Amino acid sequence: DIMESLSALLGKKVMVLDYVVPTPIGTTWGLGGTCVNVGCIPKKLMHQTALLGTALQDSRNFGWEFDKKVEHNWETMKTAVNNYISSLNWGYRVQLRDKNVSYVNSYAEFMEPHKIKAINKRGKETFHTAAKYVLATGERPRYLGIPGDKEFCITSDDLFSLPYCPGKTLVVGASYVALECAGFLAGLGLDVTVMVRSILLRGFDQDMANRVGEHMEEHGVRFLRKFVPTKVEQLETGSPGRLKVTAKSTETDEAIEGEYNTVLIAVGRDACTGNIGLDKAGVKVNEKNGKIPANDEEQTNVPHIYAIGDILEGKWELTPVAIQAGKLLARRLFGGSTVKCDYINVPTTVFTPLEYGCCGLSEEKAVEMYGEENIEVYHSLFWPLEFTVPGRDNNKCYAKVVCNKLDSERVVGFHYLGPSAGEVTQGYAAAMKCGMTKEQLDITIGIHPTCAEIFTTMEITKRSGADITQAGC
Ligand SMILES: Cc1cc2nc3c(=O)[nH]c(=O)nc-3n(C[C@H](O)[C@H](O)[C@H](O)COP(=O)(O)OP(=O)(O)OC[C@H]3O[C@@H](n4cnc5c(N)ncnc54)[C@H](O)[C@@H]3O)c2cc1C
Repeated sequence: DIMESLSALLGKKVMVLDYVVPTPIGTTWGLGGTCVNVGCIPKKLMHQTALLGTALQDSRNFGWEFDKKVEHNWETMKTAVNNYISSLNWGYRVQLRDKNVSYVNSYAEFMEPHKIKAINKRGKETFHTAAKYVLATGERPRYLGIPGDKEFCITSDDLFSLPYCPGKTLVVGASYVALECAGFLAGLGLDVTVMVRSILLRGFDQDMANRVGEHMEEHGVRFLRKFVPTKVEQLETGSPGRLKVTAKSTETDEAIEGEYNTVLIAVGRDACTGNIGLDKAGVKVNEKNGKIPANDEEQTNVPHIYAIGDILEGKWELTPVAIQAGKLLARRLFGGSTVKCDYINVPTTVFTPLEYGCCGLSEEKAVEMYGEENIEVYHSLFWPLEFTVPGRDNNKCYAKVVCNKLDSERVVGFHYLGPSAGEVTQGYAAAMKCGMTKEQLDITIGIHPTCAEIFTTMEITKRSGADITQAGC
């Protein structure tokens, strides 16, 4: 995503170095970073694939008749998604050329504070100097460090271009990446198990996280809670093959075994800051998590070196955040601007089968910051009109706002579990930027019949313990 940012550097001589180190099983990809190749884009398209499957089921209730058994073809989906990604890779190349940014497909590392070495795939080295550097090396999936993980398991870096259907899958982890992948794989009709060490969606509102998990469980995803894998063995090669996973309880001595076709590890991602010569440039790194601390202008401790995106310490790991930070940084450096990136009230969405959108604080965080007595939570279950005719997920969707009583019931946390969560959350995020209060929500007129309108009619406080099930329109 740094390309988007650097292309703004009007009149400056700019070079972008981008190089993808292949995964342990050899997967690699093109220009554009994680989001385009192995993140947001393929993820959302595969989520859409699963949603279409649900829509197909629903459609019979709306009178659509079709005889043929509904089946999904992994290869068709994979090819279509990857063709689209290729078109994006090409588009970025053209944009860089149009903006006279020289693109070098090489791995970069600092030799000195103002000098880098670049190595291409054939091992050829070139050296480059610059007045200013922007680091945006992102993150890569973490492995477990157990026997068999790198040999036999895959990560999200491999999944989206996997040449064959993964079959019966064990997803290890409970990050949003883990739950999203588990969700769409189950939505394609695969047998999916998620192995969870402790909690779901760490860092997110836990009430919401548990509702996400419950919904997945009700729709056939198995959860093995409080277990961690200790060993993965190959029983049979193939596409997919067969693997045996041994796991142990985090609480007792219990050990379990299971057979799967594919094991997808999604236990977090590590910042790519360990092998880029930061010591030679004098850039400080947080040793614990590999992240780079920076001031509110994305400047590291070395004044001519900046960092944006996923490698920044204490900031959001989201594409639009990386792009915004890079764009504003470029404008400050070379366009005379003083506008800084605002990391407050950043909205995001988890694209699980039932989507979860949020903006601002989790309920836990709000309580911690303002005190339980100063927080009012308004909430409601709801049943989207679209779900009524097929008769599914009655009163499973949920909305809540967390308000600060000390500040005119300003909404400090917005949470939505339901269809089109990204679309719903985006608009309310703009309102939160404007300082939306509960009263302003109440005087907003809803659009009927929608899911988003639920936020304009919320009367029940969580504190009251009153019934929040909805009986209809
Ligand atoms: C499965 C998944 C789903 C996601 N879904 C979403 C989503 O729905 N919405 C959202 O907003 N975010 C999502 N994200 C997060 C998003 O992808 C990242 O926040 C975003 O890509 C960060 O951008 P970045 O520029 O910091 O790093 P990246 O996009 O990771 O780019 C870093 C680039 O630098 C290259 N590189 C690294 N080291 C070197 C080096 N030494 N020399 C040369 N090149 C190097 C890398 O190969 C890579 O191309 C998702 C991530 C994953 C993994």
